[in-house]
Amino acid sequence: MVSRVVFGRGSFNQLDEIISPKRLNVNAPFIFLVDDVFKGNSWLTSRIPLAYGDKVLYISANEEPKTSQVDALVEEIILTTKERPSGIIGIGGGTIMDLAKAVSIMLTNDGESKDYQGWDLVKNPAIYHVGIPTISGTGAEVSRTTVLTGPDKKLGINSDHTPFDQVILDPELTKDVPKAQWFYTGMDCYIHCIESLNGTFLNAFSQSYGEKAFQLCKELFLDNNLTAEEAQDKLMMASWHGGMSIAYSQVGVAHAMSYGLSYVLGTKHGIGNCIVFDHLEEFYPEGVKLFKQMKSKHNIELPQNLCADLSDEEFDTMIQVALNLEPLWENAIGKNWKKVITPEKLKELYQNM
Ligand code: NAD
Ligand code: ZN
Repeated sequence: MVSRVVFGRGSFNQLDEIISPKRLNVNAPFIFLVDDVFKGNSWLTSRIPLAYGDKVLYISANEEPKTSQVDALVEEIILTTKERPSGIIGIGGGTIMDLAKAVSIMLTNDGESKDYQGWDLVKNPAIYHVGIPTISGTGAEVSRTTVLTGPDKKLGINSDHTPFDQVILDPELTKDVPKAQWFYTGMDCYIHCIESLNGTFLNAFSQSYGEKAFQLCKELFLDNNLTAEEAQDKLMMASWHGGMSIAYSQVGVAHAMSYGLSYVLGTKHGIGNCIVFDHLEEFYPEGVKLFKQMKSKHNIELPQNLCADLSDEEFDTMIQVALNLEPLWENAIGKNWKKVITPEKLKELYQNM
């Protein structure tokens, strides 16, 4: 679990006070990985507390994190700092959260990040790392994974060393998120709840967080009586609870299939989950019904026929990436999932998307 967290509008201003005691010495800088959507945004960047050799690296979130990108960032940091950094601070959405977690792990573990994709492969504790989300829904700020696309798979580095040492939850940072992106990333949280609550891995720990996040999502996406500020505050906490819910269970069919879409077509996580989930009535009838209501209430049009022109080879890759996520299928369907989920079945589903 994340060991320390602060919550509140304006809590970003406490960053200096929070990280200063963690500075190892004047040659060990803090590295800020910041979503480049904030480049030139002085409202946010003027409050990043820089001292000594601290550096801001602006990173585009247009593509999801890759293992090669993590390795390149780690090399750049090693080559341009006098000593191992005092800490990595990620400021952005799930993309930046995941990069910050992965870079902090790879600064203390040998080899390439692709070698650590899987469960509990990380040997050494990561360096001090702080997550400051600026868009809510993924739960990446709280989870024990960092999802990376590698040369042969899209899979997280799941480990006890992955979670942040400190998270700053300042809902005000999410105020300028564009509407469609707000919906897609918010639906990631909603889908986490549905997959966790309807999964065979469910236990009282996951259920208690999942039910709270589910209730917040219904309020957020279907009720009319929240102010913008209340909605930002609540979505940030829904994301946190949704992330906690899957920390002790698993996600399911939408995530497995969305990873396949992302691997072959580069479809991003939030929108990819929405595209898939829209076609999963047979697995999550109630959840999909509510999702369709939310989609229409917010006038969201999802892309159609994404897979119409795929070759057989591309379908095979997509299906293989999805099938490889065995724990997700076992959670969704049960131990005998291979009897239900065949390559033919997945092809049929993908062909509708
Ligand atoms: P994102 O980080 O890709 O950001 C989406 C878009 O929103 C980007 O264009 C970004 O620049 C913009 N943005 C972010 N904050 C903004 C702000 N305050 N104002 C204006 N624009 C802003 O989106 P995401 O949905 O948060 O993250 C998706 C990523 O998270 C994927 O890579 C996915 O694999 C990962 N993920 C990780 C976990 C985990 O547990 N580690 C869980 C779910 C998803
Ligand atoms: Zn997700």
